[in-house]
Amino acid sequence: MSKKVLVLAEVRDGELRNVSYEAIGAAKEISSGGEVVAVLCGEGLNEAGQSLVHYGADRVILAEHSLLSTYSTDGYVQALLQVIGHEKPDGLVLGHTALGKDLSPRLAARLQSGLISDVTSLEQAGDNVVFTRPIYSGKAFEKKVITDGLVFVTIRPNNISPLEKDESRSGDVSSLAVDVKDLRTIVKDVVRKASTGVDLSEAKIIVAGGRGVKSEDGFKPLQELADVLGAAVGASRGACDADYCDYSLQIGQTGKVVTPDLYIACGISGAIQHLAGMSNSKVIVAINKDPEASIFSIADYGIVGDLFEVVPLLTEEFKNVLV
Ligand code: FAD
Repeated sequence: MSKKVLVLAEVRDGELRNVSYEAIGAAKEISSGGEVVAVLCGEGLNEAGQSLVHYGADRVILAEHSLLSTYSTDGYVQALLQVIGHEKPDGLVLGHTALGKDLSPRLAARLQSGLISDVTSLEQAGDNVVFTRPIYSGKAFEKKVITDGLVFVTIRPNNISPLEKDESRSGDVSSLAVDVKDLRTIVKDVVRKASTGVDLSEAKIIVAGGRGVKSEDGFKPLQELADVLGAAVGASRGACDADYCDYSLQIGQTGKVVTPDLYIACGISGAIQHLAGMSNSKVIVAINKDPEASIFSIADYGIVGDLFEVVPLLTEEFKNVLV
């Protein structure tokens, strides 16, 4: 049976996040030929709305309000409940991002619905869609179905394919006046930490360093490799705890969960808590001077050697091929 599915699209620094396109891809599957309606919250989002149509949204709703220009839980809950009340969808898809993780349980509680979070794949099974999600820090997967009520899911970035961009697709992009008030938190200003520019959670390639980098300066060769590959730099908690880098780079059970196409682990032993955040990467390359390091048990390619010798060699080789 065809369904109407709403997707919350995310914009950061004026750019749509890739997970928004992936969420449209997931919503298409869930809708079984029904309607996919993307929602954008904020102001001046017409161009982003058009882009969502090019990626498969049948219609886009701009929930416009000055108080929605920066994310707040209260503001987004209020706006989305109004859009949901107006549209009465059968399904709802959010990215399993910091925003989605904050917003989805609260929305589910308000809507008295179920929620399947952190979905990494989905498939049709008769009239239902079966959602797969990792459990026990990625050591096992469970399959879930929602047979009744709102099909509400969050999807892990980089796992579900978006539709091909097609600029000939057309769809209505229209504003919906939403009432947002009595916010308990008002964001006055956002002060960013310096970053490499590539968003870790959406990066296609990650070069990650562990305690084996030995110092803050030890990250420099990793950054050089990342620059050549257009990659993001990540880290183990070992490296963060040792103050070699900022905690915003931490990958793992208590850090970010990433699923890049290529993960290059340098001087990381492969503790289970680190694997919880990266073991679903499509190709894993490990560089470690200890041949017994557990990271090699999940690596597709292992290089036993000193990262300070191996990483610059890789950078030079990639420069020859890519630059
Ligand atoms: P180490 O285990 O010290 O490994 C360093 C590696 O570098 C070694 O294998 C060594 O052989 C290699 N090495 C050294 N010098 C070189 C060189 N020159 N060239 C090549 N290789 C070299 N960890 C996370 O990463 N993320 C998490 O989210 C996380 N959450 C946790 C949550 C809890 C509740 C707990 C208890 C722990 C958590 N940890 C997490 C910590 C985790 O258990 C490990 O302690 C941590 O991952 C180790 O980091 P590491 O691999 O960088 O360091």
